Amino acid sequence: MASSNTVLMRLVASAYSIAQKAGMIVRRVIAEGDLGIVEKTCATDLQTKADRLAQMSICSSLARKFPKLTIIGEEDLPSEEVDQELIEDSQWEEILKQPCPSQYSAIKEEDLVVWVDPLDGTKEYTEGLLDNVTVLIGIAYEGKAIAGVINQPYYNYENNEKQQFREHRNEAKAGPDAVLGRTIWGVLGLGAFGFQLKEVPAGKHIITTTRSHSNKLVTDCVAAMNPDAVLRVGGAGNKIIQLIEGKASAYVFASPGCKKWDTCAPEVILHAVGGKLTDIHGNVLQYHKDV
Ligand code: AMP
Ligand code: MG
Ligand code: MG
Repeated sequence: MASSNTVLMRLVASAYSIAQKAGMIVRRVIAEGDLGIVEKTCATDLQTKADRLAQMSICSSLARKFPKLTIIGEEDLPSEEVDQELIEDSQWEEILKQPCPSQYSAIKEEDLVVWVDPLDGTKEYTEGLLDNVTVLIGIAYEGKAIAGVINQPYYNYENNEKQQFREHRNEAKAGPDAVLGRTIWGVLGLGAFGFQLKEVPAGKHIITTTRSHSNKLVTDCVAAMNPDAVLRVGGAGNKIIQLIEGKASAYVFASPGCKKWDTCAPEVILHAVGGKLTDIHGNVLQYHKDV
């Protein structure tokens, strides 16, 4: 392991703070009440004001600090001057205290590709299923996903709702950990942090899959695996979190639709704790800038 003052660790530390800022933007748009929903290709492929603002914030903040990076964001946005208020300059110091895995210590800025999903689970976001939503920043080197950050802006959302309800009725509070939002991060060879790794109950085979992009192939494939239970929730990031927190044993989605920005960051977190993400044929995914 090398000292943490490497390009990769500085980038991950910045991506952590930038993802937190994007999470705040996602919450602010809901609080202001105007989602500005636009259909992209169809009624289940949506973009909101939060997707647009969060992408502007993430991509501009990264580009300002790391001008030689290749940054690929989900949303097609007109190039315009970005409001200074959207820029995040800070970096998460705890990450800089961690050593950089030696195989990544000589990486240069121009060698890295960053895949950005500013808001994963947009359909669910528009329907108020807010804890399905994540902000995803994945980092790839030589076509391989090697580092990633996931912000879940509404982690503890239910707890907070319940807590308000209890307070209203003068009942006990939900607990000391009911802070809204969290950030999970990981680097291959170092580990994944910001959550409690858990296994599904022994002997249970629980599949998690799409809620709003299903088709016959998806449901046939899930049924063929004869699971004990099937969870249907939004977001690729959200489903990978279900795997690492022991709510599901496998994420199965046998259909086109997930893009590199959906899988890059989640894949790193999953691989860092011993899981595996592949395409339908069992092949690893490639994250070169032109794939
Ligand atoms: P889901 O599990 O349905 O939330 O999908 C995970 C991610 O893949 C989300 O970012 C979706 O927008 C994307 N996705 C999956 N299937 C499709 C599709 N048929 N059209 C557009 N996006 C899709
Ligand atoms: Mg997505
Ligand atoms: Mg998205």
